[in-house]
Amino acid sequence: MRELLGGKGANVAEMARLGIPVPPGFVITTETCRDFNTLGQRFPADLQLQVDKALAALEAQSGRKLGDAEDPLLVSVRSGAAISMPGMMDTVLNLGLNDRAVAGLARKSGDVRFAWDAYRRFIQMFGDVVLGIDHALFEEALAEARAERGVAEDTGLTPVDLTRLVDRYKLIVRQATGAEFPQEPEVQLMKAIRAVFMSWESQRARTYRRIEGITGLAGTAVTIQAMVFGNRAGESGTGVVFSRNPVTGERELYGEFLANAQGEDVVAGIRTPEPVAVLKERMPGLYDELTALSDKLEAHYRDMQDIEFTIEQGKLFLLQTRGGKRSARAAVRIATDLVAEGVLTREEALLRVDAMSLDQLLHPTIAPDAKRTVLARGLPASPGAAAGAVVFCADAAEAAAARGDKVILVRRETSPEDVHGMHAAQGVLTATGGMTSHAAVVARGMGKCCVTGAGTLIINEAAETITAPDGTVVKAGDLITLDGGTGEVMLGAVETVLPELGEDVRQLLAWADAVREMKVRANADTPEDAARARDFGAEGIGLCRTEHMFFAPERIRAMREMILAEDEAGRIAALDRLLPYQRADFAGILKEMAGLPVTIRLLDPPLHEFLPQGEGAIAELAGDLKVPVERLKDRLHALHEANPMMGHRGCRLMITYPEIARMQARAITEAASQLAAEGVETAVEVMVPLVGLEGEFNALADVVRDEAAKVEAETGHTLAIKVGTMIELPRACLRAGEIAASAEFFSFGTNDLTQFTFGFSRDDAGKFVPAYRERGLLAHDPFASLDTDGVGDLVAIGVARGRAKRAGLKTGICGEHGGDPASIAFCHGAGLDYVSCSPYRVPVARLAAAQASLKAPRTVLAAAAE
Ligand code: PEP
Ligand code: MG
Repeated sequence: MRELLGGKGANVAEMARLGIPVPPGFVITTETCRDFNTLGQRFPADLQLQVDKALAALEAQSGRKLGDAEDPLLVSVRSGAAISMPGMMDTVLNLGLNDRAVAGLARKSGDVRFAWDAYRRFIQMFGDVVLGIDHALFEEALAEARAERGVAEDTGLTPVDLTRLVDRYKLIVRQATGAEFPQEPEVQLMKAIRAVFMSWESQRARTYRRIEGITGLAGTAVTIQAMVFGNRAGESGTGVVFSRNPVTGERELYGEFLANAQGEDVVAGIRTPEPVAVLKERMPGLYDELTALSDKLEAHYRDMQDIEFTIEQGKLFLLQTRGGKRSARAAVRIATDLVAEGVLTREEALLRVDAMSLDQLLHPTIAPDAKRTVLARGLPASPGAAAGAVVFCADAAEAAAARGDKVILVRRETSPEDVHGMHAAQGVLTATGGMTSHAAVVARGMGKCCVTGAGTLIINEAAETITAPDGTVVKAGDLITLDGGTGEVMLGAVETVLPELGEDVRQLLAWADAVREMKVRANADTPEDAARARDFGAEGIGLCRTEHMFFAPERIRAMREMILAEDEAGRIAALDRLLPYQRADFAGILKEMAGLPVTIRLLDPPLHEFLPQGEGAIAELAGDLKVPVERLKDRLHALHEANPMMGHRGCRLMITYPEIARMQARAITEAASQLAAEGVETAVEVMVPLVGLEGEFNALADVVRDEAAKVEAETGHTLAIKVGTMIELPRACLRAGEIAASAEFFSFGTNDLTQFTFGFSRDDAGKFVPAYRERGLLAHDPFASLDTDGVGDLVAIGVARGRAKRAGLKTGICGEHGGDPASIAFCHGAGLDYVSCSPYRVPVARLAAAQASLKAPRTVLAAAAE
């Protein structure tokens, strides 16, 4: 019942049902939160009555009463939505304390200090969360109290200090709100419920949902439970454990414990906890009990659990369990181990790993032999390695990222206000906090490198400096490197390397390959990229962009000569010089991909991209070409276009200068013949870009076929080269039937198709798409994830009309969307034969294609598309 009770409420209820010790309580549903918001942030009429009833039942069950002067019940009031949003919404603890009940708590517990400490914590939390008072005011008063007593830790404060502190806190409340701190527990409760509901719509919660793509939830539930205390005398404490290691995936009880503390001390990262193993020595019985409960929960949920627990004077309570956030490496290891343990089927395991997260496994690590100056070692909170300039606040991180700079966000500790900065940074470093602190949990979720608890570093956020134990001072803007795998913090930008795919990843991907119906190819323009793509499992090249091959100095010169030539003869002379380069490029790539299909696209971009910019470069080129500068300028002027993206590019270029297509066709065919002579098998597909008219395709296909036939005759090798087209204009989708009459395959160029369907310039959309997303006009950036409604319709039409003309027409996608899991799911439904993406996305695409196959039979979607 997660949707209704929130993850936390549902799991606590489930634990109670399993007979696991949880504090008694009740849950207010997410639907109530939705009603609260539809009513303009007012409670539904019967809420008060229902809360009264549930509270009475809780009081009866626990044998204690809220606000009681003898033995008061205290409750926690916690948020929790169907999808976990760590730290984003509000929580109030110790609710029910007032001037009367604190005395009762002191008497009943026999611990005056504990009671007053609970009261001051409650006023502080309630003041901050419910009354909206700046928490720094409370922190200052607390710091003053410590200073007056001459102690460094809160634990050094005496009961009398605490009673005085409570008075100061009440004064802060009175001054900030103009009213007394509310003494009636029922009033406290309803105010706290309201605050939790309100936190659902807070800026930070909304931002988090937007970044994480969380939509369609009713709101947050409110879980109200009797308090248990980890900060009592004796065997008390609190902690978080995972049923398996969330970083490596290894099967072990993994986590942290903080003696004599409440849960928020761990989560807020204010004190750095110890590994849970200490419990094994100090309280072996409880450690065994915790291990048994962790195993029981994992077996019940059939997944790795993240469990919060509290020990109150020797009694263990579980406060929460949920599927644990994990690194991509751990996700794969856990999924494959659970198959080996007979818990999951292969299909289930495939669905357990977020396809996009595989991208993290290809993130860099520190080169093993790289020179490094280690400033400090913190906790390895989230894997990967990252280098960047130091920034000390989230806004600075965001601003730097917007400029395209790489930064490391450095904070004493992070809070939910920092999430946008964490998102923008390459990595996150904190001085305090453990493996389950806010920074660690959020960074792991984002797949971002993170080192926490680097306590030997003195981070001065105001002065913007980090001081290392050896006295080194790092200032804002200085470069540092983090290793999220070891916890090392290093000076400068240290060399990184890309990792190999682990055995478990290869295993999971092999299962994916057995399930998926679409092939996965890569976009690659060099033999090196092709080799890497093949290693990652690419089954061919879906797009080789030949224009990238013309930029080396000796080539660009010939290219410029070709463009600037006044006649065909001049162009052919220049093209003849380019031909050997092209032939060698193609041979290299075809060799790497021996036996697999390789789609080579004829020249696509507007010519001015190859031309010199600026006076100096123009003069230099004029000298090279031995033409007067003025004549060159005239020619450049003539080539200038107002709208190059819609200008003289793609097939249009070759319609006017067919000799370009002829040269490329020759280079391709000669390369393939050369390999055939060496006994290397090739399967070449030549692709004509930016076709909108049947005639455009036919004209160029004729050139390519004619030239290929000539080379075949010359060399005596028959190569069966296929000629097809990119479909990247709306007209091409609509008239796909005519084009398919002679095109042997279609490859949807969804970058351009998106540009021309929306009329959004690919180069300028970044200026307004974020605003569109902010306002909810677009759910996502259509250049990153396919607009399945509009662009998707055109793709579906293109496939249907193309196949109606040519049965079994091979279709694929080679825009950036080919590496995006949601777009891949669409391609599966639309019946495409393959997706093609950047080499690093190939593992992502293999898994995403398998997940698409497992989730929906493609025939159903394909039929709907038609
Ligand atoms: C496309 O338009 O989707 C495509 C793959 O081609 P390019 O990005 O090179 O224009
Ligand atoms: Mg294109």
